[in-house]
Amino acid sequence: MSGSSASVCVVFGGSRGIGRTVCQHMARIGYSVVCASRQRETCEEVVKNLTKQTEGEMGHLSVECDVSEEESVVAACQFIIERAKRADVLVNAAGVNKDSLLMRLKSNDIRYHVNTNLVGSMLTCRGLLPLMLKQRRGAIINIGSVVGSVGNVGQSAYSASKAGLIGFTRSLAKEVGSRGVRANVLAPGFIETDMTAGISADSQQLLIDSIPIRRFGTVEETAHAVEFLAAASYVTGQVLVVDGGMSMAGGI
Ligand code: NAP
Repeated sequence: MSGSSASVCVVFGGSRGIGRTVCQHMARIGYSVVCASRQRETCEEVVKNLTKQTEGEMGHLSVECDVSEEESVVAACQFIIERAKRADVLVNAAGVNKDSLLMRLKSNDIRYHVNTNLVGSMLTCRGLLPLMLKQRRGAIINIGSVVGSVGNVGQSAYSASKAGLIGFTRSLAKEVGSRGVRANVLAPGFIETDMTAGISADSQQLLIDSIPIRRFGTVEETAHAVEFLAAASYVTGQVLVVDGGMSMAGGI
């Protein structure tokens, strides 16, 4: 799917990290972008700094949305339907991670991961599907994680939410494929963002030793994979792993 003048890319979790770079990258290749997160002002700031669209196009939009709150997602999707009028690419990058061994994990923390990482993506997909089905065109890219397939110590809730995202995405791909809508998971390994900034230098080195490419990935490399999935018109229901070969090599 190319970034033709009428194409709109909606990014939930667009304020920081992978999502913010996806906003910047998709704007650069010609999409009108809608940036959504809980931080209205940060989203406005992201949008202000995006590559400008040529006159006559929609331009870029921002909208406040907490994906873990159904009412907030419904309101944001309504705003997108009314103002953007299209949703050609939907990127679900909103995600949270709070490491803890299962024995110490509070029930609220389990719900926090599942509500944001899994249910949040399900709600945004459900909210924007009417637009995509009407257009008979759409590419949904749910940002999962390699740990959704291989698991990781201290990440049972996070991994479960990301594993759920795979089952959800594959089911959705089967439901809507005949109507021009594709759905895939992009599963990063360790990418340099706020989410991985707290890993100690020693732990980072141990992880890097287990990655064949011998470094963490960058947000730009992840955004390139999003561009690929947005354009890959015969790819649906797949998990694209972007982890420098870590899971292949039996890392983490
Ligand atoms: P990040 O830098 O911490 O950014 C997280 C983004 O999610 C922010 O834009 C944040 O926006 C948004 N967000 C969090 N909770 C939200 C909510 N309830 N409603 C709406 N937006 C919410 O994280 P990142 O590293 O870019 O991660 C992006 C995605 O990639 C996540 O799904 C993460 O699980 C996945 N991932 C990351 C890595 C990695 O190594 N970095 C690896 C595998 C998978 P606000 O705070 O402004 O609301």
